[in-house]
Amino acid sequence: MQHKTVKAVMVAGAHDVRYENQDIAWDSDQVLVKVERGGICGSDIHYFLHGRAGMSVLKSPMVLGHEFVGIVEQAPQESNLLAGQRVAINPSQPCQQCDICRSGKQNLCRSMRFMGSAQFYPHVNGGFAQHVVVAPEQCIPYADNVEAKVIAFAEPLAVCIHGIKQAGDLTGKRVLVTGAGPIGCLVIAAALASGATEVVATDLSERCRALALKMGAASVWDPRDEEVVGAWREKGGSFDVCFEASGAAAAVASVVAYTRPGGIIVQLGMGQAEITYPIGPLLVKEVQLRGSFRFVDEFTTAVRWLETGKIDPLPLLSAELPMDQAVDALELAADKERAAKVQLVF
Ligand SMILES: [Zn+2]
Ligand SMILES: [Zn+2]
Repeated sequence: MQHKTVKAVMVAGAHDVRYENQDIAWDSDQVLVKVERGGICGSDIHYFLHGRAGMSVLKSPMVLGHEFVGIVEQAPQESNLLAGQRVAINPSQPCQQCDICRSGKQNLCRSMRFMGSAQFYPHVNGGFAQHVVVAPEQCIPYADNVEAKVIAFAEPLAVCIHGIKQAGDLTGKRVLVTGAGPIGCLVIAAALASGATEVVATDLSERCRALALKMGAASVWDPRDEEVVGAWREKGGSFDVCFEASGAAAAVASVVAYTRPGGIIVQLGMGQAEITYPIGPLLVKEVQLRGSFRFVDEFTTAVRWLETGKIDPLPLLSAELPMDQAVDALELAADKERAAKVQLVF
């Protein structure tokens, strides 16, 4: 075992984020990665604001961050990874042994270890630290001519590509995305890259709607615009596939009305755990409601899509701050009127 003390961004509870020393240790079969930068995700913001993210509640201090990239510093010889190589880190470590993993749905593993997540206890530390220790299979090398700030979008893009897979073939489909935060905006781009003919987006915020247009939405609407959303409800709904990416109760409850009979809704937004739902329309229209959580092999797909420029995520990058300004960065990222994605630089 080798040891090192590094600075890390630790969350201990609501509004309790510290920039602290942390001891890390690694074995000869593990990889030591020098972290370059990491994107702040909605779940990091939730831990910071509320001490919990959805159903994951903080029970002990944890290093934040699961959207990060770095440079290999030490790697096992048999891993084919080289010191100095730039890698995207897949934060997901399914057990590979439970019945769910064996069925190929590793994202739903019964004992998942996901970096920077309090889903299970003990929590798994995240990547907002100067160095992290990971398994060789978590490291996805990428081309040297691609910027780290682009590849740092691999994790949220993987979430979106998985969501699109949940919807099935999008070729020729008319798509609605409710919620144009970073995930909603990446869904817009990924849906178009996957063959959707038209993507429409909604968001309460004008700033988010403008970003949705930049990411390829054909049109954007304020969901309070009764005239437009009323027209979507006519004749039993307009859209073949709806991605609900806000988690907001009003959005979740309204999407069924916008979905055409026989259409599909993919729930990506994580908001309140329970919401009053229009089950009647869901039933009589045979709308299929599908959950979507994290990703399986879509992480590597996301790295490749970013590497080749199939998707340009940079319109979503609002600010880059040094890691010792993590609290400011979290506050900025939490304010949708000021920022979409904020990255910490280590
Ligand atoms: Zn994320
Ligand atoms: Zn498992």
